[in-house]
Amino acid sequence: MNKYIKEKNKVDYNLFGKDVNDISTKYGLPQDVKFCKKCVISNQRPNSEVEFQHNETTNKKTIKLDENETCDACKQHDFKKNKIDWLKREEELKELCDKYRKSDGSYDCVVPGSGGKDSVMAAHILKYKFNMNPLTVTWAPHIYTDWGFDNFEAWIHSGFDNYKLTPNGRVHRLLTRLAIENLFHPFQPFMMGQKTVAPRIATAFNIPLIFYGENEAEYGNPLADNNLSTRDEKYFSLEKEKEFYIAGEKYSDLKNIFKLSDADLQPYTPISKQILSEKKIKVHYLGYYIKWHPQDAYYFSIKNSNFKASPERTAGTYSKYNSIDDKIDDFHFFSYFIKYGIGRATYDSAQEVRNGDITRDEGKQLVKKYDGEFPQRFAEEIFEYLSINKEEFADIFDLFEKPYMDKEYFMKIADNFRSPHIWKYENKMWLLRNTVW
Ligand SMILES: [Zn+2]
Repeated sequence: MNKYIKEKNKVDYNLFGKDVNDISTKYGLPQDVKFCKKCVISNQRPNSEVEFQHNETTNKKTIKLDENETCDACKQHDFKKNKIDWLKREEELKELCDKYRKSDGSYDCVVPGSGGKDSVMAAHILKYKFNMNPLTVTWAPHIYTDWGFDNFEAWIHSGFDNYKLTPNGRVHRLLTRLAIENLFHPFQPFMMGQKTVAPRIATAFNIPLIFYGENEAEYGNPLADNNLSTRDEKYFSLEKEKEFYIAGEKYSDLKNIFKLSDADLQPYTPISKQILSEKKIKVHYLGYYIKWHPQDAYYFSIKNSNFKASPERTAGTYSKYNSIDDKIDDFHFFSYFIKYGIGRATYDSAQEVRNGDITRDEGKQLVKKYDGEFPQRFAEEIFEYLSINKEEFADIFDLFEKPYMDKEYFMKIADNFRSPHIWKYENKMWLLRNTVW
């Protein structure tokens, strides 16, 4: 059988020399790496992606730095701090809830989440402050951490009904493997399910209102996106007949080549625009109506849901309380570091600098110390998870030139996704050409 997923080529190290003229960039990233003067983020940070249109040829749009080298996320933060009338916004939320609240015992809103600090806070505020009757909805992690599972249970036991969709493990593993081979994006199939699970359940149960906590746009999407209370439907819906991709593969190829069925792919498939409009489903951000501070959400969830931080710091960073429920998460941020030169410590400290929790100099030191650390703690388990073994994948095993995953092959794939404008190769070591520190 023809090997459809070829072993990644050897890297041309000449492209990564010390002084290369006319250095090429991948993914349409800006050639000159610059850092925000207020936080620690670089101009390489990609905006939110419409994942079901994402393939190997996609060019990324990235965060804007203005003429004073201040990023959009910092400007948005200042705007929220100084320009928004939060009492008026809360009044708007009350009006929205009044419009949708049900008193016949049925659910009136959907709150997607995992039991992390943001979903705990969102569900509690809606239920206990605004007297709503939320249905919480969860898209299960790839492999729970022990503390992630405990936090999920604690959330539900603190007073909520929950529907959890756990994807077919065989399909989920295969798609995740393909997303790594094609896009070096181990979290992509998870994110696709995560974005569609709430609208899918809202549609099935006729619950027209969905509430997320924070708007991810606040971390760097164009400023205009932030002045809306609703999530743009382009991230989770599509006209029915349009072609789309999962894991960087065409939907039709996943069926024809990888032998997956429509039913197998259903959790990853965008919702039909027509159904969304017929059912009048709207996705709102609570962070638009209520001032959202990540550390406050953390303390709130300890108090109200028995939430526990991770007993150990997350690989690649210093933090212990955000995005801690999935063992593959470490690899998600590691892949960002390879592709964009931005690791998890950069993300965490950029946010904490903006929120005034740490200074920019402290942030720089944390980035220097932790960014890009290889996520060793769950590596063996994850590589086994990502391996295409002959027993379970007999019908497609031969499509892979390198079916089994190990650290050596994972790092070989990683090297193929490095961009020469971000990385240089010196004395057999990969080094960033530019750092914030
Ligand atoms: Zn900034």
